[in-house]
Amino acid sequence: MSESESASAQWRVLNLPLGLDEDESVLLGRAAERAGLSPEEIRGLRIGHKALDARKRGRPRFVVHVDLALDAKIEDRGPDAFRRALGSGQVARRAAPASLAWATPHASLQGARVVVVGSGPAGLLAALALARSGVVVDVLDRGPALRERGRALARFIGSGQLDPEANLLFGEGGAGTYSDGKIYTRVDHPLEAPILDELVACGAPAEIAYDARAHIGTDRLHTVLPRLRGRMEALGVKFHWGTRLEGWVWAEGAGGRRLKALRPSRGSPWVFNITPILGRYARTQLECPIPSSGTPERHPMAYSRDSGSPSARGRKIVLARR
Ligand SMILES: Cc1cc2nc3c(=O)[nH]c(=O)nc-3n(C[C@H](O)[C@H](O)[C@H](O)COP(=O)(O)OP(=O)(O)OC[C@H]3O[C@@H](n4cnc5c(N)ncnc54)[C@H](O)[C@@H]3O)c2cc1C
Repeated sequence: MSESESASAQWRVLNLPLGLDEDESVLLGRAAERAGLSPEEIRGLRIGHKALDARKRGRPRFVVHVDLALDAKIEDRGPDAFRRALGSGQVARRAAPASLAWATPHASLQGARVVVVGSGPAGLLAALALARSGVVVDVLDRGPALRERGRALARFIGSGQLDPEANLLFGEGGAGTYSDGKIYTRVDHPLEAPILDELVACGAPAEIAYDARAHIGTDRLHTVLPRLRGRMEALGVKFHWGTRLEGWVWAEGAGGRRLKALRPSRGSPWVFNITPILGRYARTQLECPIPSSGTPERHPMAYSRDSGSPSARGRKIVLARR
C-alpha cells in the first residue's frame, strides 16, 4: 500500500477467518464480501491485526482484522451493503495512521536545536520525530554505542565485572536493546503504525505490524538499532555516547527560575531545548529533580509513558524554550 493510500485507510473489517495453510491473498476477497464491496472498490489492503484462535480443539485458525483504503465518499455514495456492514459492526471506521513527523512543528521547535537525553526506545523515537520535522537534534547517552556496550556486557557475563555506565540498561537502545523485543501491548494509537513501519524498514520482521504476538527478538534488535541510527544520522542527528546528564543549570530572572542548560559529564554546559527521556531505571540516578513546572513546557506529543511512580508519569518529554 502506498503512503497516500495508507493515509486514507480508515475502514477496518473485523474478524476475518484465515486457515493456517491459507495464503493471505484470500483476504482481499473475504474483506470485500464482508464489507459489501467488490474487490475493485478496495484501493489498498493492509493487515491490521492477526491472532491465532485455538479455542476450537483440533481446528485452530487465524482471526484477522484488515484495514482498507477506500474512496473518500464511500460512506455517502457506497453500496447499501457497505452501510449495512457498517451498521452491523463488521466494518468500523478508524483514524488514519499518524505521521512520525509534524507537518507544522510546535512553535518552540521552529529553528531550534534540541538535546534528547537517553537513547532508549523513547529517546530514539522522539529524536527521529524531531529530526523528521526539521529540528536539529543531539542525542546524548551515558552509555556507549552498541558494539562497545556488547563488549562490556560480555565482560560482565564472563567475569561478573560490572561497568556502571555500560550494561543491560545503559547505552545505545537503552533497556530495549536487551529486551526480548516483544511488542504486543497493542495500544490502539495512530502512531503505532508509523513506529512499527520504521522498525520494519530497519530490518524487523514485517509481521510485527500486525501480529498479535509480535516479537522482534534480541538478536534482530542488534541489526535494527544500527540501521535506525544510520537513518537518523542521515537526517543530521548527532549521537554523543559516554555523555551523562548530571544536572541542570538554572537562571534566576524577573519571571522566576528558568531552565537554562544541561550539565553533561564532559565538556561545558549545553544551552538547548531539553528533552530528558531517562527511562524508569535511571530516575534515581539523577540527583536533581526533572523539572516539572515553570518554563519547561510539556510537549503535546509524548512517545513513552513511564509506568513507574505516578509522579513520573507524563513527564517523559519536557521541552524548554531557549
Ligand atoms: C531484561 C528486560 C526485558 C524486557 N523485555 C521487554 C519486552 O519484551 N517488551 C517490552 O515492550 N519491554 C520490555 N522491557 C522493557 C523495555 O525495555 C522498557 O520499557 C524500555 O526500554 C523503556 O524505554 P525508555 O526509552 O523509556 O528507557 P530506557 O530503555 O531505560 O532508556 C533510557 C536511556 O537513557 C540513558 N540514560 C539514563 N540516565 C542518563 C543520564 N543521566 N544521562 C544520559 N543518559 C542517560 C540510558 O543509558 C538509556 O540508554 C524489558 C526490559 C528489560 C530490562
